[in-house]
Amino acid sequence: MAESIGILGGTFDPIHFGHLRPALDVLEQLNLDRIHLIPSARPPHREQPQATPEQRLTMLHLAVKNNEQFVVDDRELHREGASYTIDTLLSFRQDFPDSPLYLILGSDAFSHIQTWHHWDELLDFAHIVVMQRPNETVAMPEQVEHWFEQHVANQDDAKLKSGKIWPIAVTQLAISATDIRSKISQSLNPQFLLPDAVIQIIGMLGLYR
Ligand code: ATP
Repeated sequence: MAESIGILGGTFDPIHFGHLRPALDVLEQLNLDRIHLIPSARPPHREQPQATPEQRLTMLHLAVKNNEQFVVDDRELHREGASYTIDTLLSFRQDFPDSPLYLILGSDAFSHIQTWHHWDELLDFAHIVVMQRPNETVAMPEQVEHWFEQHVANQDDAKLKSGKIWPIAVTQLAISATDIRSKISQSLNPQFLLPDAVIQIIGMLGLYR
């Protein structure tokens, strides 16, 4: 049986427990074999990250060093031009032709998915997992809501390799990278929002001050 693989992209500027704990919930609830964490190079939809790609990669490696089901994957950093999720899924499909693939998104990201490059082809390559983010009243545009209803998964869809949308209840942690950067810039202690090893390297590199 081919391995089931989760795909969690983000700026990870920095990685925090609001990414990691919900991702572990998804891994366990959907019985995934592993989750690839993929820092984006030039996110098309938002401000550019403060930490460099190499620094964000280093923070990711430190964050997951005690869990071998989390894999740091730098494939978007090698690509030229803007990083589009559809291209990432294509590259996963080439590497793992027989695996069920699960693209994992927070509800905030899912709610504006119709602005993404070739968004309506994403399900040709993978499933989509939607994690409910705290304080998020997901106002989905009608188009996305219709798409969601058309493709929402049933229990027996687990054997499929792609094509379904899986809403998954996760641990609600109201943590954001924006808040962590703001705390650090005000010399406040970000401890217990992200792994200690990540806090240490942020200090050593002088990030977010
Ligand atoms: P920023 O505050 O800089 O926008 P962020 O904390 O939202 O960053 P990203 O790297 O943009 O982190 O997030 C990557 C993915 O993880 C997105 O799909 C996002 O919705 C999801 N995510 C981030 N924080 C949480 C959280 N606390 N709970 C659930 N999902 C989250």
